[in-house]
Amino acid sequence: MRADPWLPAARADVTLKAATVSMTEPGPVFRGHNITVRFGGLTAVDKVGVDVYAGEVTGLVGPNGAGKSTLFAALSGLIRPQEGTVWMNGAEITRLSAQQRARRGLARTFQHPEMFTGLTVRENLTIAYRSRFARRRLWTDLVTGGGLRRAPRAETEAIDRLAALVGLEPLLHRLPLGLPLGSCRLVELARSLATEPTVLLLDEPFSGLDGGETEQLVASLRRVIAEQHVGVLLVEHDVELVLGLSRRVSVLDFGQLIAEGTPAEIRQDPAVRAAYLGEEPAPAGRGGN
Ligand code: ADP
Ligand code: MG
Repeated sequence: MRADPWLPAARADVTLKAATVSMTEPGPVFRGHNITVRFGGLTAVDKVGVDVYAGEVTGLVGPNGAGKSTLFAALSGLIRPQEGTVWMNGAEITRLSAQQRARRGLARTFQHPEMFTGLTVRENLTIAYRSRFARRRLWTDLVTGGGLRRAPRAETEAIDRLAALVGLEPLLHRLPLGLPLGSCRLVELARSLATEPTVLLLDEPFSGLDGGETEQLVASLRRVIAEQHVGVLLVEHDVELVLGLSRRVSVLDFGQLIAEGTPAEIRQDPAVRAAYLGEEPAPAGRGGN
């Protein structure tokens, strides 16, 4: 693996442009550079770059059809971009599969999480936790069911800590089926953290949540970031939520990066206000999803 040749230049660039980060800060733990994804004649993501730093949230916002999920898929390894590179911890991972990226510490959550419905929340977390130690053991556990009941104390304690961090303790004994959506998202967050990732990619984790559930997930995310120092890319339609949680924000529109900066800068950006905050009528013909 080569070292990331852009790191020094990119930091200098960010420093000059946004004047918000000092040169002594460490470089990004994760970065997409010049990512382009085309679907036939449609350029869904057009030369977009994004940087994620340890212990911080980078927000990615944009109207429906802007290309957020497509960029997310390219970064997590689900689709291969036509152009661009993806870096993690200074090593290029562009050609690695989603699974290989996961093994290097890249976690993601799913908008429609699939949990093992016959297993309790604790057992679901245990499977995720064990997956980082022994991938083959995982499937033996699933088939026999027996392995899950013989949890060593260190493992039980790790799951307890994780549940406390995310705010899941009262739900550990429950089956996922029938849990409210907000609780499912917390389980999904805990499950993604069970592998102790360095980078966490979240695609619209707040969609469909009510006010209370949103507050709870915001609080959980804040604790996770503060205590585990994980770098987070938050892709989210709700711009106010993103501005509140993020250290820096990128704005996509029609596949293009139209603005980058601190939440305060993004609030003031005329292009963003026009394209996204609804100050002027949006162009007709925007694709929805
Ligand atoms: P967002 O997540 O910001 O709403 P998407 O990334 O889902 O946007 O979509 C970006 C654009 O790419 C849209 O015009 C969408 O219709 C198109 N698109 C997304 N996925 C595909 C696909 N698999 N095949 C063809 N077009 C797609
Ligand atoms: Mg989307």
